[in-house]
Amino acid sequence: MKIIVMGAGVVGVTCAYQLAKDGHEVIVVDEAQDVASIASLGNAGLLSAGHAFAWASPRAPGMMMRSLWRNDQKIRFSLKISPAQWIWALKFLRECSPQRSRENSDNMQRLAKYSLKMLENVVKETGVEFDLSRSGLLYVYRKQKSCDLGAEKVKLLKQNGIEAELLDRDDVVKREPNFAKIREEIMGALYAPGDMSGDSNLFTVNLAKACKKLGVKFRLGERIISLEQVNGEIKALITDKDRLTADQYVTCLGVHSRHILKSLGINLPIYPVKGFSVTFPMIDASKGPGQAGVDEDNLLAFDPLGDRLRLTSIAEIGGYNTSYAEKDFQAIIAGGKELFDGAADFTKPTYWAGLRPMTPKCMPVIDRSPIDNLWLNTGHGHLGWTMACGSAKILSDLVRQRQPEIDRKGMRYGD
Ligand SMILES: Cc1cc2nc3c(=O)[nH]c(=O)nc-3n(C[C@H](O)[C@H](O)[C@H](O)COP(=O)(O)OP(=O)(O)OC[C@H]3O[C@@H](n4cnc5c(N)ncnc54)[C@H](O)[C@@H]3O)c2cc1C
Repeated sequence: MKIIVMGAGVVGVTCAYQLAKDGHEVIVVDEAQDVASIASLGNAGLLSAGHAFAWASPRAPGMMMRSLWRNDQKIRFSLKISPAQWIWALKFLRECSPQRSRENSDNMQRLAKYSLKMLENVVKETGVEFDLSRSGLLYVYRKQKSCDLGAEKVKLLKQNGIEAELLDRDDVVKREPNFAKIREEIMGALYAPGDMSGDSNLFTVNLAKACKKLGVKFRLGERIISLEQVNGEIKALITDKDRLTADQYVTCLGVHSRHILKSLGINLPIYPVKGFSVTFPMIDASKGPGQAGVDEDNLLAFDPLGDRLRLTSIAEIGGYNTSYAEKDFQAIIAGGKELFDGAADFTKPTYWAGLRPMTPKCMPVIDRSPIDNLWLNTGHGHLGWTMACGSAKILSDLVRQRQPEIDRKGMRYGD
């Protein structure tokens, strides 16, 4: 079959790879000049089943409220005159009950665990390089309350077959000797040995090369304007340069999936959640993190990506603007220096801001759309890098009419 994949982020390219492996003729269309140049470019790089918990939780409404006058909250709500934002926020709040939060987290963990397994397959099949580290991930707690929650998380993860353990302060310092200087502030950590880290941009760029060897064609620098629908079927993709036809069409447009499909009556509950990262050249790896992780109570992710140190923070529900100023990174850099002083050249920052394509349930939609030859693989929120390879395999199974290997609860359109 001839299939057009819309979007060349990590989700689109992994999807193209699986579809090409199945023998389809695949064309990927993206308005950017390179693959993985939007959300998949500068993310934290965590491949983290151990962090697969829904952001819509019983604690989230309080954080969102407090964020209206304080800026130290994990989730910030920046109020806009935007019905799309308000509708999304109301749906998000509905997912914050203990029961829904638990269900959504279970669904996320199932997909994340499966996805890491599929990522290993892709690595084996292609030898794709992306500064992969298999040292596990460390989620550090400075507050006792967070550590108590961490103990609960360990239980839930184990119930879902994800390896996790709660470390005390001494174990944390043994695992990450650079934390000796903050030893007294550490209450504990969740360590997930099966979690990994790596550069999603490098991965996508190199996987695109493997895709080309399988015959995938990339049409970059071509903006998708709309889809032409006749008698309940997509007949063509209209871009700013051409009219492209195929048998099937797959939507992997990140935060923009909603806009492109809206005119077809397909309502995807995706809204952008902004985040920031800053990357420095590593100058002394012994002073840098031995594994990636998150300083949970300071909202700071750290990742030694090969010869670089990346620091990431902030989750702001505030629209499609990806601009940033140096001051947005001050707290992030201060946090990085506290933990890893001397590790990196902090005078050479590469700044980045990106948008997480977030659904209220924090789960992607992986399904056939109400239009028969139009498919959905989008809305991967804060875990798109983690979930990409599994999502791609599920989508390709659906297109091939094979039974996906895991339960799709929470991933269906309208779930
Ligand atoms: C700060 C931050 C930190 C993160 N950290 C992590 C992490 O540690 N681990 C993790 O698993 N995930 C993380 N994520 C989430 C992850 O980056 C995203 O979920 C993932 O990159 C989404 O991939 P995507 O392919 O769906 O979207 P994108 O990468 O945004 O790709 C969508 C593509 O669609 C194209 N497009 C859009 N509209 C059009 C159009 N009209 N015409 C043509 N092309 C179009 C864009 O150019 C883009 O290339 C993070 C995200 C952010 C912002």
